[in-house]
Amino acid sequence: MLLTACSPAPPSAPPSSSIGSLNARPRGGEAAPWSYEITASPDASEINVRASLPPGSPAELSVDTGAEPFVKDVEIEQDGVFYAVAEEGGSWLAPSCQAEGCRLRYRFLLADAADSIGDFGVAASHGAAILAPPSTWLLRPLRARGGRPYRFRVDPAAGESFVTGVFPAPDGSPHTYQADVSDLPAAPYSAFGAVRSVVLRERGSSIVVAFLPGELEAADDVILAWVASAARVTASYYGRFPVSRALVMILPSEGDRVGYARTLGNGGASIVAPVGRYAGQEFFARDWVMTHEMVHLGFPNVPRRNAWIEEGIATYVEPIARARMGDISPEKVWRDLARGLPNGLPEPGDRGLDNTPTWGRKYWGGALFCLLADIEIRKRTNNSRSLDDALRAILAAGGNVAVRWPLERALDEGDRALGAPILRELHARHGSSPETTDLDDLFKRLGVRVRGRAVTFDDAAPLAFVRRALTEPAREDDKTASIQSNLFKIQSNKQ
Ligand SMILES: [Zn+2]
Repeated sequence: MLLTACSPAPPSAPPSSSIGSLNARPRGGEAAPWSYEITASPDASEINVRASLPPGSPAELSVDTGAEPFVKDVEIEQDGVFYAVAEEGGSWLAPSCQAEGCRLRYRFLLADAADSIGDFGVAASHGAAILAPPSTWLLRPLRARGGRPYRFRVDPAAGESFVTGVFPAPDGSPHTYQADVSDLPAAPYSAFGAVRSVVLRERGSSIVVAFLPGELEAADDVILAWVASAARVTASYYGRFPVSRALVMILPSEGDRVGYARTLGNGGASIVAPVGRYAGQEFFARDWVMTHEMVHLGFPNVPRRNAWIEEGIATYVEPIARARMGDISPEKVWRDLARGLPNGLPEPGDRGLDNTPTWGRKYWGGALFCLLADIEIRKRTNNSRSLDDALRAILAAGGNVAVRWPLERALDEGDRALGAPILRELHARHGSSPETTDLDDLFKRLGVRVRGRAVTFDDAAPLAFVRRALTEPAREDDKTASIQSNLFKIQSNKQ
């Protein structure tokens, strides 16, 4: 799944649609890029784009579905003169792009698109800012193979900003971003306009925290501490922060809590978090949403039918990682698992995790898969290995939210680190058939007894050694690496 909408509670509205996954292709490389230079007008109501496509570019150009009406005045250069290119059914045909490469220019009516579309995954206004990822406004060959970069530079209007989760260009050119063309159809969240940014840095990773316009009772430092704390928890589980750079957009919203946050990678990493204007310091101190989203950064996008593994990891790892840091108690972890996991069991008509895209199977069925994997790994290795090792190995092999992998590749990377096909075997049992789990028996063997809000532990239970280890503080080497207190200290580096 490419667009990850996150909610361990039942969603009130259906999640936004995703774009079908593509297999990962070689990134960057020698091929000439699609190049774009963007100049934004004041308030970002309109952007002017100049594009340069190399020879061999497919002739049919367009933008995201629904954004075509806001592309205006497309012109192509021939011998120094620009000629109009007519639209045909939402596409622009430029045969010379195929033959000898081409230079184009056009306008994109960003404010009109935001007013009309109103979805921040495509285009939406938020006060004096407009959220719209590059897939909305970059005119491009629709039928293009990966293995070639797209690259764009944005010059915002004076006093305004542009922020994006697309990774900066590797050559360090200012205001320039770059990723593979296969990443572009689901490129990370981005915003133009009145946006304030603060960068948190640590050991080669940076988190750009972008505040969109709007009132918040919480001071900036409270929000930054919340983001930094989630980053520390996430880094402690994975051994490092999962991506070199992430954009976290804070979207001031109504209410007193954090709303439906989303993570989107593909050539970068971005999180959008709607934050209620009345949410106070005590709310952020116990919030889990930002940690859940950041855990997503450490696993590749997999095909949509396997999205349960993405949500399962985030749902399972978030409380365990927070308990290991002392943010929540082991009792709370097990109380919440006891309450949540029954939602993940197969119901009549279930066809396995890969074929049953319900909320319960996706979030809690995925979490149960992770718990069963962790128990099996720890049992077989007497706690010397854990799910942590498998997930760290997947990340070390490059499997983060910036890339798209088949599920099998991720499972194989994890199993290689474990020295046994534990994840593959578990997937064979749970992926395509309604394999159930006796949760009462499992909790009994783990030595967990939950009655209402009361949780008691039985250390004489056969799997008590596994249960204790699950929420014990991270390993000695992680603790001494001062992950617990020092990562992502707020330095107030203005971007
Ligand atoms: Zn999620």
